[in-house]
Amino acid sequence: MPELPEVESVRLGLQAHVRGAKIVRALQFHPRALSSESIAPLASLDDCKITNVQRRGKFLWLVMDKKPLVLVAHLGMSGQFRIEDVGQARHPHCRARFRIKQGRRESFLSFHDQRTFGWLRVDELSKGIPSSISHIALDPFDEKFDRKMVIKKLQAKRTEIKRALLDQNLMSGVGNIYADEALWRARIHPRKMAEKLSEKELATLLTAVSRVMKSALKAGGTSFDDLYTNVNGETGYFENSLEVYGREDDECSRCGHLIKRIKFTNRSSHFCPHCQLRR
Ligand SMILES: [Zn+2]
Repeated sequence: MPELPEVESVRLGLQAHVRGAKIVRALQFHPRALSSESIAPLASLDDCKITNVQRRGKFLWLVMDKKPLVLVAHLGMSGQFRIEDVGQARHPHCRARFRIKQGRRESFLSFHDQRTFGWLRVDELSKGIPSSISHIALDPFDEKFDRKMVIKKLQAKRTEIKRALLDQNLMSGVGNIYADEALWRARIHPRKMAEKLSEKELATLLTAVSRVMKSALKAGGTSFDDLYTNVNGETGYFENSLEVYGREDDECSRCGHLIKRIKFTNRSSHFCPHCQLRR
């Protein structure tokens, strides 16, 4: 599932390819492509010009010149944006398509989604953020991200630290992969209770979160299950740098003990039982 580094890679690609383009025609091909919370059909964006592409956590939005309308997107498990030539046949997983025009050049901005957990939504901006995602907390890449406040909130959580890290109302952008990686870097067991961690340990963890996601962004993201690509259809290569995620029974690069996988909600947690002590 795309997390902050992958969504940011997509945002950068969209920024480069569709900023300034006019939407000639928006077409929806799958009922689930449009979120039930959408305030209008995709066609309401016809004739809008895309002026910017922004992101918070794992949510992206295209800002339109017809303010306050925006197109919000969540990639879900396998959502992808692709820039395609107008002659290109529609991909079987294409759920929506925007014919866009930039100067004289026309192309398609397509939304592909194999597993259909992703969605698009027409929404309105309110104080610079789409109304429907105003409850989503700032992510660590946001210049207004308040580390001290997040540490305080984490300390007040009577829940396992990994669960707290994934709480998008506390800090957004972190999903299963980077939570496991950051916890390994900070030597913290995923099942340790958040309230039992010291301020220093939590600060180390937040630094690890930022660092691992920055490194992943540099690598173009993690294409672990081949469902993530950028707007040019290219995959990232950070999966080669993963220390624990998807590496069950491999040796920990720090201590040589075997990486363990345990059940976590309907997914898994990966960690080193030797250097990430539960205590
Ligand atoms: Zn280890």
